[in-house]
Amino acid sequence: MSSVRSAVILGSTGSIGQQALEVISAHPERFRVLGLSAQRNLDLLISQWERFRPPVVGIGEENLASALRERLPAEVKILAGESGLCELASLEEADVVLASISGIAGLMPVLSAVKAGQCIAIANKEPLVVAGELLMTEAARCGATLLPVDSEHSAIFQLLEGRPKESLHRVILTGSGGPFLDSPADLSSVTPQQALAHPTWKMGPKVTVDSATLMNKGLEIIEAHRLFDIGIDDIEVIIHPQSIVHSMVEFVDGAVLAHLAHPDMRIPIQFALGYPERLARTWSSVDLLKAGGLSFLPPNLERFPCLRLAREAAEAGGTATAVMNAANEVAVTRFLAGKIRLTDIPRLVEEALSAHTPISRPSLEQILEADRQTREQIKA
Ligand code: MG
Repeated sequence: MSSVRSAVILGSTGSIGQQALEVISAHPERFRVLGLSAQRNLDLLISQWERFRPPVVGIGEENLASALRERLPAEVKILAGESGLCELASLEEADVVLASISGIAGLMPVLSAVKAGQCIAIANKEPLVVAGELLMTEAARCGATLLPVDSEHSAIFQLLEGRPKESLHRVILTGSGGPFLDSPADLSSVTPQQALAHPTWKMGPKVTVDSATLMNKGLEIIEAHRLFDIGIDDIEVIIHPQSIVHSMVEFVDGAVLAHLAHPDMRIPIQFALGYPERLARTWSSVDLLKAGGLSFLPPNLERFPCLRLAREAAEAGGTATAVMNAANEVAVTRFLAGKIRLTDIPRLVEEALSAHTPISRPSLEQILEADRQTREQIKA
């Protein structure tokens, strides 16, 4: 790849989006920004526009479109609302679309990018969790490519690449265990501030709370199941507090391959944006001598019931994963607002799952309806 690649960054003001722009800044000869979008953070979006000057800018909240229009030159095309983000995601001139919107809000833009046959660097795991079957079927039909940005899935992608599927025995997803791996003993009293202080990764608030409950690892089991078409039972989770090993794969002969790197999201972002080429790093090499040892522990399913709930939802299949995701998203928002305890998150997810009868092979409409109904119930 020697030509300049045109990139669309969906969710450019979020943690992944900002780190993607750092990667792009470090390789100005390889990338140009074709489009940026934010849900509502106008000030940051405008300062990003001033720096990268993309011809197209998207804003998720439609009522902010006129304020954005006033602050950008007339020649910049503005796309607003969900349909605007879908149009941005399917721009024909895009060589790569980075899907880094947080939560289910990314579903329709990701689906549009898939239908347009784009090369999608996907950081937004929720669309794969709620509608993975549909997205992967459409991707195959429309010739879209999904390149994982989630660090574990980027690792698995790299470990599996070029190897026959029959040689794979299992995938070992690693997780740091989050800020509450073994303390405090009682998780019901932790504050949002404590939950947002992740020991190894710099991430947005939704995924950081998910890391504190281990729901993040649960979502990642489903994400791996969908992206790589691997059975749920063949995906094991191991806690690895140093976050140096980003995942492992075991082959039928018992050989285990691991992917090691700094816990720095710019590494998988740059891998996906530059794929199939590996671009030079702008960070230091990982120093294994300074890592202070690499340890591996089993996850504590009693302390972190979300991991069990995610497996149960994945096994139930159909709309169950959409229900689990919706309940979790609402519960995380309520926890961050100080309305519920951290331990209420798995309780609400479990209640939503037990109240739901899954529909198998759901249509997009059935998925969206399961999502909507669950949000109503949990809010009440
Ligand atoms: Mg991850």
